[in-house]
Amino acid sequence: MGATKKPPVGKAYIIKRTIDIILAIALAAGVFFGLKHLFSDRDKISNERPEAVLSVVEDSVPTVSSGDQTIYTSEEVSNNQVYKGSLILVSNEHECKLGDDGELVSILAKKSEEDVSCYSVKDGDVSVRKETMTNLNAMMTAFYAETDIDDVQVISGYRSKERQQELYEAELEENNSDSSDLVSKPGYSEHQTGYAIDINITRDGENIDFDGSGDYSWLAKNGYKYGFVQRYEKDKADITGIDNEPWHFRYVGTPHAYYMRKNKLCLEEYIDEIRNYPYGGLPLEFADSNGEIYQIYFVEMDKEGESTMVPVPEGEDYTILGNNVDGFIVTVDTGKKQEKTKESKAEESSKSEKKKDSKKSEDASSEE
Ligand SMILES: [Zn+2]
Repeated sequence: MGATKKPPVGKAYIIKRTIDIILAIALAAGVFFGLKHLFSDRDKISNERPEAVLSVVEDSVPTVSSGDQTIYTSEEVSNNQVYKGSLILVSNEHECKLGDDGELVSILAKKSEEDVSCYSVKDGDVSVRKETMTNLNAMMTAFYAETDIDDVQVISGYRSKERQQELYEAELEENNSDSSDLVSKPGYSEHQTGYAIDINITRDGENIDFDGSGDYSWLAKNGYKYGFVQRYEKDKADITGIDNEPWHFRYVGTPHAYYMRKNKLCLEEYIDEIRNYPYGGLPLEFADSNGEIYQIYFVEMDKEGESTMVPVPEGEDYTILGNNVDGFIVTVDTGKKQEKTKESKAEESSKSEKKKDSKKSEDASSEE
């Protein structure tokens, strides 16, 4: 082993060592910050919302205030409100707690008031909620404009619990049965909400069952634009507990009807879906057929008290609706519009191609 060369201990050496140390620190710091930056970018990427439904909004905005400066305040809402509003789920399991609360209007009266004569109504007693009425007139007017069909008749709207009792008993007697898949138990009929209607076709004084076929399918396909959905479809009978009823329409409001239609969800499934978006996480965000962007989230009812503090975005346009089960659905109209992506443009042009084709085959009905 040769003698190790002892380092010189001069001034110059100390300066050199000092510079070395400074350089080493600077290098280490550089590596550290570089890595940190890299990881923070990775965090950003992993925080992006997963690809959601059909209309994915490109630049998603998180619920909790950050980049977009949304500030949430709380609104105290009485727990009674859980049982009110156009999204209430009424089924064999969920009783309707609404009644005649002064919001019902006669369809006949409102039709003539607004001078809408492109559909008829059985008599002056058939009534629905004001909100349902306004949108019913709009939907039927659009339906007539598109199809020239004016023989649809509304045969049923709001039904009191007592009236449902009579119908139920008559149905059981007629079929000599102790239950029914067609007539709901008193208290459990959607007709008690004032958000549901039954229609038929009236031609030459004859009443024909509405089966939604041919040009009449426009209503099931386009009703969402006016907040209506066909409530009981054949392939959802297992979930709804009600057989296929093409004549029964339910007003749920926009943009909910759009989301349900696009994603083929019945009301039971939609209410469940919204529970996956509780306040505090990312909201359910989507653009409707006009490209308007909505955010929807769920706030569970506070069972401890008589009211619930519902977080709402300050200064934004929102609604709070009960689900008739366990909480509130907050819908925020962001006022923003989705920019058309390459995909949606491509989708549109392929649709218009299809439209051209269908025009050739004399079928002018369109889903839009
Ligand atoms: Zn019905």
